Amino acid sequence: MNFILLGAPGAGKGTLAQRLVSVFGLVQISTGDILRKEISAGTDLGKKAKSYMDSGALVPDEVILGIVENRIKEKDCEKGFIMDGFPRTIIQAEGFDSMLERNGLSIDAIVELSISDDEVVRRLTSRRTCSNTSCQAIYNVISSPPEKNGICDKCGSPLIQRSDENEETVRNRLVTYYDKTSPLVRFYSGSSRYLKIDASGTIDSIFSDVVSKTGLK
Ligand code: AMP
Repeated sequence: MNFILLGAPGAGKGTLAQRLVSVFGLVQISTGDILRKEISAGTDLGKKAKSYMDSGALVPDEVILGIVENRIKEKDCEKGFIMDGFPRTIIQAEGFDSMLERNGLSIDAIVELSISDDEVVRRLTSRRTCSNTSCQAIYNVISSPPEKNGICDKCGSPLIQRSDENEETVRNRLVTYYDKTSPLVRFYSGSSRYLKIDASGTIDSIFSDVVSKTGLK
């Protein structure tokens, strides 16, 4: 099954995707994670992306579309993929439609995680992410802290607060979301594959809602 996860930053797309990966063996494609890996590897792409990311703006569409097309062609995506944080603009969504067609692929479910702005700010400013780029586990110091303060339960690496998860950047990311990404709700909502999920609850309730409504087995 191939999914698109839509929703504001902090709605829980990454956490839901990680759960779908571990339970159903799907592949998570997070354009944000791919860009952060490029930044830590110091590549030209990473250098270009960092300035956009640190201000809460979007990386240019053509850069993102190139990254995604390379990724969905990889063998592991045959198991089914979850797009986490992509598409983020109408241009990306249109480009993705043609890309899927070119590659003989289709999307089975588009899941919108819906959440209030205040909850986004609360969640993101208390979020911590594993610094190990091949782990990227997500914690929350209030609602799901690690067993040992500041250390990843899964791989033992230090946890960090992402540079774009301070309140000012989070507010900018929300402005960007309403401006550029929320029009995608209208773009996709006419589809029979579209599903809106209340994301204010726990990850367990969000996960079971998605599983029952998509019929994922
Ligand atoms: P995320 O981890 O998905 O919240 O993404 C973090 C940042 O990476 C965003 O604020 C953007 O600057 C950039 N980014 C990630 N995915 C995209 C995308 N699909 N289009 C443009 N920029 C993106």
